[in-house]
Amino acid sequence: MADEQTKDERYKARQQKVKAQVDEKIAAAQEEKGLVLVVTGNGKGKSTSGFGTIARAVGHEKTCAVAQFIKGTWENGERNLLEKLGVEFCVMATGFTWETQNKESDTKAAQETWSTCKKWLADESIDVILFDELTYMITYGYVDLDEVIDALAKRPKMQSVIITGRAAHRRLIEVADTVSEVKNVKHAFESGVKALKGVDW
Ligand code: ATP
Ligand code: MG
Repeated sequence: MADEQTKDERYKARQQKVKAQVDEKIAAAQEEKGLVLVVTGNGKGKSTSGFGTIARAVGHEKTCAVAQFIKGTWENGERNLLEKLGVEFCVMATGFTWETQNKESDTKAAQETWSTCKKWLADESIDVILFDELTYMITYGYVDLDEVIDALAKRPKMQSVIITGRAAHRRLIEVADTVSEVKNVKHAFESGVKALKGVDW
């Protein structure tokens, strides 16, 4: 019994120490500004995370916009829901780039979508923006990295931007405030399971 009590006390003391450290960090975080978030890596969950943040923002009555740089030929669950809630969407005209494989038309389509993104980045009324799969456009050279970095730097102070996609460029990671890398541990597709409506798209 006495032994149990000591364990409890030790637990309590440890938790109090953790709480003090967390409280100290919360008190120290005083800056208020919009964020650039990058979600990259080879695992599943990047777009899901981006759309989760948009859903969170919509729940707080924030104004949101989504650009999708790569779209499949299938229907889009997130768009079906979020457009009804007033989220503006801009979906790149071509399908998967690795399906079209036409550099000229892909560049044109990416540039058209990027020009809408630039407009949003200059619009103070938009609180949270998702650039889904933008990293590929930079990798392929369809969208200029310097232009992206410049537009992000000049955006309204309280505006947040989420960028998703594999292999985010080093400079994009540098300018971001929060960067997460989703690691692939395993994926159902690798064992022959089809992409599932409502879970994968
Ligand atoms: P999600 O949209 O599910 O969050 P994601 O944005 O992290 O996925 P993408 O590379 O954009 O990943 O791929 C989109 C599609 O590919 C989704 O249907 C997803 O389930 C699937 N996918 C993601 N990661 C993997 C993987 N490591 N292996 C196989 N398929 C994957
Ligand atoms: Mg994705």
